[in-house]
Amino acid sequence: MYPALSYRRHRRETSQGEINLDQIDKKVITTCPYCGVGCQIELIVSGGRIVRSNGAEGLPPNDGRLCVKGRFGYDFVHSPDRLTTPLIKRNGKFEEASWDEALDLVAEKFSSILADHGSEALAGYSSAKCTNEDNFLFQKFIRLVFGNNNVDYCTRLCHASTVIAMLRSIGDGAGSNSIEDYVTADCILVTGNNMIDTHPVTATFAKQGKKKGARVVVIDPKWTPMVIHADLVASAQAGYRCGIAERHDERDHCQGTH
Ligand code: SF4
Repeated sequence: MYPALSYRRHRRETSQGEINLDQIDKKVITTCPYCGVGCQIELIVSGGRIVRSNGAEGLPPNDGRLCVKGRFGYDFVHSPDRLTTPLIKRNGKFEEASWDEALDLVAEKFSSILADHGSEALAGYSSAKCTNEDNFLFQKFIRLVFGNNNVDYCTRLCHASTVIAMLRSIGDGAGSNSIEDYVTADCILVTGNNMIDTHPVTATFAKQGKKKGARVVVIDPKWTPMVIHADLVASAQAGYRCGIAERHDERDHCQGTH
């Protein structure tokens, strides 16, 4: 997916050939689509193609930082294998269709399910890869059009247990402060989170905090790269990690190691 890139001052070689960075048509600020950190990226567009991705300076949460995915993982946009038109299955075969045709068909099917089986027959499932704005619109659509609260997204699979633990311990299941706060924190507790691999830009802020003197405590049933930066590592038994955040008496199930 990531082509071999060779940067020179004004020219860049990609799998599609050499691109002259002097001929920039426009720069577009947008959100990296890969993970929930939501890094702001500046896409450089030339000849109708994305030719480069920079971290957007001065904007939270990343202030110019990007990981390898946000920096180089955009060739898929111009991939000839990418599906760019809706497909409708007719007589057992997918055929290209217009957006109007596709949306009319979906609306018709939803309406007939609603009429035949009632509101509870419908549900919606979204993704953490969508922006907050997309997910806001999605849940509005489900509640107003389907008329129910059958809406969820992949967080249920990722960290539903953590959400409950955080709700009970700090009163909120979502992050309660900004990513840049890691830089000025006195102590950083990382539990069940391989942030160096999964949310690399967040990890850079945590590592910066460590350099400035924060103590780092890692609680996890398995080894993660964050252990290298930790002052204290607690090897929790699987199933008890969230209990540590939720209930102090659950600490008895952990074995602290330095
Ligand atoms: S950490 Fe990497 S993958 Fe995640 S939003 Fe930032 S650049 Fe994209």
